[in-house]
Amino acid sequence: MTVQVQSTDDHQTQEKVNLLGLSQAKLEDFFESIGEKKFRATQVLKWIHQLGVDNFDEMTNISKTLRDKLARIAEVRPPEVVEQLDSADGTRKFVIKVTGGSAVETVLIPDGERGTLCVSSQVGCSLDCSFCATGKQGFNRDLTAAEIIGQVWLAAKSYGQFGEDRPRIITNVVMMGMGEPLLNFDNVVDSMNLMMHDNCYGLSKRRVTLSTSGVVPALDKLGEHTDACLAVSLHAPNDELRNELVPINKKYPIAMLLDSAQRYIEGLPDNRRKMTIEYTLINHVNDRPHHAHELAQLLRDIPVKINLIPFNPFDQSDYRRVSNNALRTFQDILIKAGYTTTVRTTRGDDIDAACGQLAGAVNDRTRRSERYRNKQNAEQPVRIIGS
Ligand code: SAH
Ligand code: SF4
Repeated sequence: MTVQVQSTDDHQTQEKVNLLGLSQAKLEDFFESIGEKKFRATQVLKWIHQLGVDNFDEMTNISKTLRDKLARIAEVRPPEVVEQLDSADGTRKFVIKVTGGSAVETVLIPDGERGTLCVSSQVGCSLDCSFCATGKQGFNRDLTAAEIIGQVWLAAKSYGQFGEDRPRIITNVVMMGMGEPLLNFDNVVDSMNLMMHDNCYGLSKRRVTLSTSGVVPALDKLGEHTDACLAVSLHAPNDELRNELVPINKKYPIAMLLDSAQRYIEGLPDNRRKMTIEYTLINHVNDRPHHAHELAQLLRDIPVKINLIPFNPFDQSDYRRVSNNALRTFQDILIKAGYTTTVRTTRGDDIDAACGQLAGAVNDRTRRSERYRNKQNAEQPVRIIGS
């Protein structure tokens, strides 16, 4: 296996290997490739991901000669935080600069003992779901593994979590920030495995979740590479409606997606786990009682828990948030049908950090954001269905 040099570097450091994003196996390959013993990988992993050290000089169980050699050829370089915003409810958003003039966002949501970090996987998203701010920004590129695990590293640093006996602030990670994680497969898998690795962040596999809108071929092979939890962004109980909300459904329809997701869950070593179904409720689009009944019917043979997400509005969207009444009715129908059904509380919307509001600054290669602006200027009406 060869070690890929992550190419987010600027000119001065372009030739240096960024060790931050390397899995244990890739780090072992790196040390072997420079004539060193494999066990160095374990030492360096612990320095970086358990102790938060990004300077080889501080890695004191490594000889001075090797530290100097490492400093010449390698680096531990997290992405740069350009802005940190704190919400009145304790949610913290990090705006992170990536090369090419773009920025991505990471959000830490504290909730009692729990701290959930919402991590981005791509600069923008190519999938263009109709209700998602990230989608409206278009797409620039995949994040490197260093930029993905770097979000966890930065957040841990910002909360003083590194070091022995420090309270763990980040207890859960969800790959629910900007981008579709399964379209950046290798970097996302390496990063999630670092999150769960005992020599790194040591998060339980029940506390790291990948959320996907349904890239079925990638989902089909996910189980060979990780055993993290799975959340499926469904948002509609039938293909006709889902085709409108989540366009990738035209390629991989609901039945195909649920089959693949079920195979993933059944293949997990502790196969009693359930997948989460995410359902964003949009006023008079997918929030009617008949949608809830249809959803209950659709999922009847699949072990799932359902997470309802009230739609979070953003500038470029004419959709409206579900009413409290409609939300309660929808939830009741699912609960009566026997499903564990939770409602995701909106957090951090005063700093645009709620689900689906993450927009960063995408240097859009697809020109989609431009098309949306033009379309908005022309004031096209949104199609409301099912009311
Ligand atoms: N691309 C992946 C992960 C990122 S989106 C996916 O689609 O699953 C994370 C979650 O936020 C998804 O369930 C998504 O549907 C939801 N979401 C997107 N836009 C939203 C909005 N405006 N309001 C509420 N939830 C939204
Ligand atoms: Fe991409 Fe997920 Fe947003 Fe859809 S909901 S556009 S897949 S980030």
